[in-house]
Amino acid sequence: MRYERPETIEAAIALLADAEAKSFVLAGGTDLLVRMQNDTFEADLIVDIKSIEGMDAVTQTDDGFLIGAAVSAAALSENAALVAEWPGVVEAANLIGSTQIQGRCTMVGNLCNASPAADSVPALVAADARVRIAGPDGSREVAILDIPTYPGKTSLTKGEIIVAIVLPKAATRSGDAYLRFTPRTEMDIAVVGVGINLTLDEGGVVAAARIALGAVGPTVSLVEEAAKALIGSKLDQAALDALASACSAASNPIDDKRGTIAFRKQVAGVLARRVAQTAYTRAGGK
Ligand SMILES: Cc1cc2nc3c(=O)[nH]c(=O)nc-3n(C[C@H](O)[C@H](O)[C@H](O)COP(=O)(O)OP(=O)(O)OC[C@H]3O[C@@H](n4cnc5c(N)ncnc54)[C@H](O)[C@@H]3O)c2cc1C
Repeated sequence: MRYERPETIEAAIALLADAEAKSFVLAGGTDLLVRMQNDTFEADLIVDIKSIEGMDAVTQTDDGFLIGAAVSAAALSENAALVAEWPGVVEAANLIGSTQIQGRCTMVGNLCNASPAADSVPALVAADARVRIAGPDGSREVAILDIPTYPGKTSLTKGEIIVAIVLPKAATRSGDAYLRFTPRTEMDIAVVGVGINLTLDEGGVVAAARIALGAVGPTVSLVEEAAKALIGSKLDQAALDALASACSAASNPIDDKRGTIAFRKQVAGVLARRVAQTAYTRAGGK
């Protein structure tokens, strides 16, 4: 197996595009290195992107934030402006694994591993984030929702690398939040994860809502019916009941020892209520 650590994105793309056999990008390695321990895993080329300029930077722009693909979850929580504007995104990334894992893992690796239970993905979808991709045919920007296509699969094509996450500027009077349910309190993956981003009008009425569910389908889903349940409300009981019903109905989970289908559907509704209340308070709602 060949290990390369290029210093430019062009060199990284060329390595991946020219590779005839199985090749992988390496960011934090907390998924990839674990998979490499498996006898059935094959890799001929590993391209480590951590020496490429800009990959480890969080940049605040007029339009929001650019988060380099190699920025660790731990580094996100050290960026006060990011935490203030997108607390839900940061709290989701900081639920990944443990302190040690968070020192290495990235949100882009979490996304590209394409686990339905990836913690940062529902929060990023709720935030309407996009990714900037560079490849042999140039650059493109794609919604986070469109990257995972199936468990373990992404829409990236040969030679393509995600360079950064593009987080929009948070709207005035908006707030986001993320919660997950795990059978154990630590070092477990989500049985359900919910990310919500709410924007209020001047009177505290929900004017826009994005509700994303993780771990209850093959990929993260954006639930339009759940958004409709909240828009026009001040999160009264009827709106929260409608939100919970919409999230339970939109869940299409697996049935296993970590949770039955009925349990996961119910938890989706329960979590959605709690996350909506946190997002509403963060948006300035009372
Ligand atoms: C003990 C432990 C606990 C964990 N707990 C959790 C948890 O609670 N929640 C959770 O969601 N996950 C968890 N994980 C999984 C893992 O830590 C996360 O998915 C993490 O975010 C992966 O990021 P990484 O940078 O380490 O990815 P890597 O391992 O470097 O890469 C993951 C995949 O993404 C691809 N990739 C990486 N960067 C790019 C890029 N820029 N462009 C294109 N493809 C790319 C790689 O080729 C690989 O296929 C855990 C893992 C371990 C070992």
